[in-house]
Amino acid sequence: GRAAPALAQQSARAVIGAVRIGSNECWTGPLPAGAAAAMKIVTEGNRYEPNGEHDQLFAAVSAVEGLPATHIKAWPGSSDPLNRAAVTFASPTRGIVTADPTYEQIWRTGAWIGAKVTKAPLGPQYQHDVKAMLAADPNAGLYYVCSPNNPTGTLTPIADIVWLAENKPKDAVLIVDEAYIHFADAPNAAKLVAARDDVLVMRTFSKLFGMAGMRLGLTFAAPSLHEKMMRYDGMQVTNMLPMTAVACGTASIPLAAEIKARRDEMIAVREKTIAHLQSRGLKVLPGSHANMFMVEWKGKAPKEVMAALLAQNVQIGRSWTAYPTMSRVTVGSAADMEKFRIAVDKVLMA
Ligand code: PLP
Repeated sequence: GRAAPALAQQSARAVIGAVRIGSNECWTGPLPAGAAAAMKIVTEGNRYEPNGEHDQLFAAVSAVEGLPATHIKAWPGSSDPLNRAAVTFASPTRGIVTADPTYEQIWRTGAWIGAKVTKAPLGPQYQHDVKAMLAADPNAGLYYVCSPNNPTGTLTPIADIVWLAENKPKDAVLIVDEAYIHFADAPNAAKLVAARDDVLVMRTFSKLFGMAGMRLGLTFAAPSLHEKMMRYDGMQVTNMLPMTAVACGTASIPLAAEIKARRDEMIAVREKTIAHLQSRGLKVLPGSHANMFMVEWKGKAPKEVMAALLAQNVQIGRSWTAYPTMSRVTVGSAADMEKFRIAVDKVLMA
């Protein structure tokens, strides 16, 4: 039935003025060329689409990903298409399979439509255990892989993703949520959709591109798969995006050197932060390739540590039911993480 989704897991609201390293946002705004493109198009805001901006976005993405533009759709972030995919491909008779822990949005939407949601623990390297996922519900309608995974930052090898695509039921859909892929120097799953009509790859500009509040996401899929997801609104949604976000994304996506610089900066800060925590005897989950990691507080309860850090004006992330002794910490700027390190030292000594 239509049980209300559990609210207990939802993130705490951002504390204005704090060091905000709780919700995996980027520490800085859009790439400068993207911001300039967004500001420029404001003066043409009277038009729904002044100059074929959606097609410009699809062409830019197509060039970077090596995918036909016909296989690319744009959305206000990736939350909307994630919900649509759940509603389209799962049902009370065809469940959803995910890893545990992972990003839970699809669990909630699954519960709402009365689909059975089955969770398979992450494997020994904290990758998705695709064989366990399939065994857990061999007749699901939807298999969800998040790589890099939220909250662990860990990657699932493309070979495992391909294995799941080839071994799931033919009429089931495999989602590969690549919200954090730009932070990982690793192969992505985009090309899978050129040859198959049962894989949906999701991207967002909310993370490395620093556009969470501007709202822009992408899906890559065969046109037939996209059509199924879009039948609710006559395919209109992708023509109704804010032009500021579309222009910003279009200008940002080809900037390989700037993207790499942002990734490198994040990695350096992440590794320095992790080294500090380890030097204090804290356990950090290995293998993150994203702007987050999970940390265990020497037996202190994550909720108490979170509150103590907030008293130092540092807002970290929450725990996951599967890993109740750990907190997720987002990698902020070098200055943010210095404040975090100082606050951790104070809290540990208290
Ligand atoms: N997918 C994953 C794995 C995420 O972590 C998030 C946000 O945190 C999203 C999707 C949705 O974000 P947005 O709607 O901003 O693209």
